[in-house]
Amino acid sequence: MATFKQDTCEKVKKALQPEWLKSFLKKTFFGSSCATHAALKNELNRYCITCTEPICQHCASGSKHGPHKVIKIYRHR
Ligand SMILES: [Zn+2]
Ligand SMILES: [Zn+2]
Repeated sequence: MATFKQDTCEKVKKALQPEWLKSFLKKTFFGSSCATHAALKNELNRYCITCTEPICQHCASGSKHGPHKVIKIYRHR
């Protein structure tokens, strides 16, 4: 029964931490800015799950990431 329990635990862990989240947590992007939009307010405060990369607000509304799954990152102080 112990084995069964462990299996279930691993499955739950995987469900709670999908692949995109793992790469998301590995990347540090707050404080960095977007190279594509260097002239604008371009804090990388969004994350494209489709591309698994941090993007700025201009990238998110652009044609590249427009149809992608993008989440907004909130920084809590
Ligand atoms: Zn950008
Ligand atoms: Zn994208």
